[in-house]
Amino acid sequence: MRRDRFALTVFLLLLSLAPWLLGEFHVTLLNYIGLYSIVALGLVLLTGVGGLTSFGQAAFVGLGAYTTAWLTATPELPAWAALVGGSPWVALLVGLALTALFAFVLGWATLRLSGHYLPLGTIAWGIAIYFLFGNIELLGGHTGITGIPLLSIAGFELRDSRHYYYLIWAMLLAAVWLTSNLLDSREGRAIRALKGGTVMAESMGVNTPRSKVVIFIIAALFACVSGWLYAHLQRFVNPTPFGLHIGIEYLFMAVIGGAAHVWGALVGATVITVLKQGLQEILPKILGASGNFEVIVFGVMMILMLQRARDGLWPLLVHWFPRGEAVRSAPVGERLSQRTPPTSGTVLLEVKDAVKKFGGLVANDRMNLHVTAGEILALIGPNGAGKSTMFNCISGVDGLSSGEIRFLGERVDGLASRDIARRGMSRTFQHVRLLPAMSVLENVAIGAHLRGDNGVAMAAFQLDRKEEGRLLAEAARQIERVGLGQYLFEQAGNLALGQQRIVEIARALAADPCLLLLDEPAAGLRYLEKQSLAELLRRLRGEGMGILLVEHDMDFVMGLADRLVVMEFGLKIAEGSPDQVQQDPAVLQAYLGGVG
Ligand code: ADP
Ligand code: MG
Repeated sequence: MRRDRFALTVFLLLLSLAPWLLGEFHVTLLNYIGLYSIVALGLVLLTGVGGLTSFGQAAFVGLGAYTTAWLTATPELPAWAALVGGSPWVALLVGLALTALFAFVLGWATLRLSGHYLPLGTIAWGIAIYFLFGNIELLGGHTGITGIPLLSIAGFELRDSRHYYYLIWAMLLAAVWLTSNLLDSREGRAIRALKGGTVMAESMGVNTPRSKVVIFIIAALFACVSGWLYAHLQRFVNPTPFGLHIGIEYLFMAVIGGAAHVWGALVGATVITVLKQGLQEILPKILGASGNFEVIVFGVMMILMLQRARDGLWPLLVHWFPRGEAVRSAPVGERLSQRTPPTSGTVLLEVKDAVKKFGGLVANDRMNLHVTAGEILALIGPNGAGKSTMFNCISGVDGLSSGEIRFLGERVDGLASRDIARRGMSRTFQHVRLLPAMSVLENVAIGAHLRGDNGVAMAAFQLDRKEEGRLLAEAARQIERVGLGQYLFEQAGNLALGQQRIVEIARALAADPCLLLLDEPAAGLRYLEKQSLAELLRRLRGEGMGILLVEHDMDFVMGLADRLVVMEFGLKIAEGSPDQVQQDPAVLQAYLGGVG
């Protein structure tokens, strides 16, 4: 058995025996650790993996807790609520629906804005809902609601903290399972690209604002479930445990445990809970005064962690228990359907009078060019001439200042890059944009994002395995095609820079494009590698692909391109076959500064 499987089995065994081995006090402690872990798990997904910060998770916990408290413990509900009142399980569904609604509105309003709007929005939300709980008469004000009923499952009443223990930990493990499944899927790759790879992901067709809202909602739903469990365990609620400071504590848990790892949530929740318990006992004795001194210790811990072990405790734990080498074989799966390629000679791309200004700088000035199917057009020019800017405008990463861009006959300027990608244009980046911690295979599979349609729910319940197999098999085929077959499972960041560029080409090809935009693909390649790249591009051209290429290596370009467009200072200064361009006086002037 692999060592990580073994460790998991032992852990699960201990977990199921714990209530029989431990006393009441420790079972209760474990119950709280379980409840906190569920919330922290949401933050692992949101903050650790997705790179978005929320201080407002405690408010979502409160929403779950108060919904069930009010619906199950109010003696006389108003008529409109009486329909769903009484049953904790119905109250859970109502709580989840409410939470999803609030999270959607909050996420939708703040996530489209970049920067700190989400954290600020969640702080405002955290404060607002805390005061709301305390001030609404219906919810018992600061005294809260008492008399919340016990849960019962199929007639069995959970009377004992040991009963709750099994429910809480079963729900936590289910949440861990769902989250791990989600992360290991098409949508999961899109989510993992959110932190540091949004431009790339958008260019591969991922709707990144949507993915952000989705993980924000999932994290909020986990918090709601935790609140629901809490209310029925505690049997009364008041606003205190749902304040902003607790929201910050949840964030501590996720960060300290290891914000990018599902099990990190458990580690963080355990460490913080046990430590808090211990410190609350010891510190007042040492200091001779009462107060929440543990907060100061947490603060110091947080600073130390961020300096010494940014990825939290989980990676350190894993380091002590190295995982056994998994036997990994290349994925197999049926072929994905392909788009019908345009016939050779069809005009794929037309750029007309395109202007792109950055403030006073005109990076592209009335640029005109076109690319047909089955042709390689090279865009050359000195550094700073505006080639990458042209690429960004064509692929929708940047918007044009004026002019128009047509792809397959239709205007695409003004469209989001994901919508342009969907029409069959795919690109690489001059500054490589891979996700270095992900395998080569997974990186390339992001390219095939638009060729699958299984969503978050399918992935969470592993109903996407057939499609996933096909996507990964397609990614593997493209990696083979570009000659990197032996690196399928290598971390992309471990490859040489030249090879990383080739991985980018494989990722672009995985989208099944009819037009390929390559920004300096041969930079950093050795002579033989350049030759095999040239051969690959010729083969693609032979299959009818249109290729637009920026490259500095003149030998490479002149031997490969059918036509060239030469740029200088944002302007097109020449266009023609390699022979024509090489003799063009303006080009010689630009490249050689007037010699010849
Ligand atoms: P090339 O790829 O041909 O080397 P670029 O397209 O990267 O050139 O850059 C063209 C000009 O536009 C340069 O002067 C560069 O500094 C400027 N530029 C490119 N991107 C931006 C940006 N996002 N903001 C401001 N200026 C930019
Ligand atoms: Mg460039």
